[in-house]
Amino acid sequence: MKELGRMKENKQKRALTGALVVFFVASLFLLGFYPLRDSIIFLENKKSIALPNDWQVNETEIQQHLEQQLGFGYRIPGSNASERLRNYIKGIAQGSVIFQNFTYMSTPIVNIEIRIGNQTSPNLLIFGAHYDTRKIATNDEIPDPVPGANDGASGVAGLLAMMNTIVENPYFLDLLEAFEIRFVFFDAEDQGGIDGWNWTRGSTYYAENMTSGDVNRSVAMILLDMVGDRNLNLKKERNSDPDYRDKIWEVAANIGYSEYFIDRLGYSLIDDHVPFLNRGIPSVDLIDFDYSEWHKVTDDLAHVSASSIAIVANTVLAWLLAEFLEIQVWNLSSNQVSSPPFHSSEVFESPAESSSEGRITIEFFTAPLMLLVVFLFKRRYRI
Ligand SMILES: [Zn+2]
Repeated sequence: MKELGRMKENKQKRALTGALVVFFVASLFLLGFYPLRDSIIFLENKKSIALPNDWQVNETEIQQHLEQQLGFGYRIPGSNASERLRNYIKGIAQGSVIFQNFTYMSTPIVNIEIRIGNQTSPNLLIFGAHYDTRKIATNDEIPDPVPGANDGASGVAGLLAMMNTIVENPYFLDLLEAFEIRFVFFDAEDQGGIDGWNWTRGSTYYAENMTSGDVNRSVAMILLDMVGDRNLNLKKERNSDPDYRDKIWEVAANIGYSEYFIDRLGYSLIDDHVPFLNRGIPSVDLIDFDYSEWHKVTDDLAHVSASSIAIVANTVLAWLLAEFLEIQVWNLSSNQVSSPPFHSSEVFESPAESSSEGRITIEFFTAPLMLLVVFLFKRRYRI
C-alpha cells in the first residue's frame, strides 16, 4: 500500500513539473515575446495598422491661418494684402522658400514655393493651393472684391497645417526621407473673365517653367481649393488622375469621412491642377464646388469651418501614409468607430516609441512574476 502510494505521489509530481514547464514557457511567450512580435510586424510589414489620432492636423492652427489671411484684406494680385500674405507664409515656412516672379497684364504676379524633405530624392510630391482672391464678386449684385475665406484662404490654411504636421510628426519621417515635398501657393488663379484676365495664370507659369527633370520625378500633384465649406461635400473632379483620386476617396471612407467625400463624379474643372496634367503629372483637384457663397462678398469666415479644412487635410495625410508608406489608417475619431479588419494587437503607440517603454515594462515584470508563480507551486506541491 505504502509503496504504491509513493509511486502514485512520484507520478503526480512528474505531471505537475511537466505542467509547470509548459505553463512557464507559454507565459513567457505570451507576455514577453508577444509585444516584441508586434514591433517586428511594424518594422518589416507596415500594413493594416491602426494609428492613434496624434498624426492629424491642428484645427486651431487652421483657424488662425484663416483669420490671418482675412485680416490682411483682399489678396488681389499686385496688392499690399497679397504681399502681406506672402510674408506671413515665408515667416512660418518650415523649409526653404522661393518666390517666383513674373508679370501678367502689367501686374506683378508671385508664386510662393516651400520645399521640405529630401531635395536630392528621385521622387517629388507637389501640393498646391491658390492664395489670390477674386477682384470682383461676379456672382453678386455688389461689385466689391471677394473676401475669399473659402476661395483662397481655405486651401492655403490646409496646406500650411499639412506642412507643419508632416515636418513635426514622426509618422512622416520616412516620407521626408523618400520624397522632396513642395507646397506651392499660386497667385492669379481667380481673376478669370475680369478685365481680360485668364484663369490659373500662376499655376500655368509654374508648371510650364518646371524643369523636365522635376517633371519626370513628380509622383503626384494634389490641389486643395474651396475645402472650407461648413457643409462640406466633395465629389470626384473629372479631370483629376482617376487612380490617385479614387484611392483618396477610398482612404476617406476608411477613416470615416464618406459623408464628406461623396463617392460620385462631380464637375469637370479648369483649375490649378490642369497645367500639371498638361505636363503629364498625375494631379488631383480636391474641391467642393457646391458652395453657395462662391464669388460673392459673403465668402467670409462665417461660411467656412476649420473642421472642414481639417477633414480634407487629414484625408490627404492618411492617403500619403497609405499610398507611399503602406500604412493603412482606420478609425480617425472615436465617434466614428467602425470595426477594423485587423487584430487589435497590431495597434501600436507610435513608430518612434515602438521599441521602447510599453514593451520593456511588460518584459520587466514578466520574469519576476513567473519566478513567483514557480516558487508558489513548488511550495504547494513540494516538487
Ligand atoms: Zn474662385
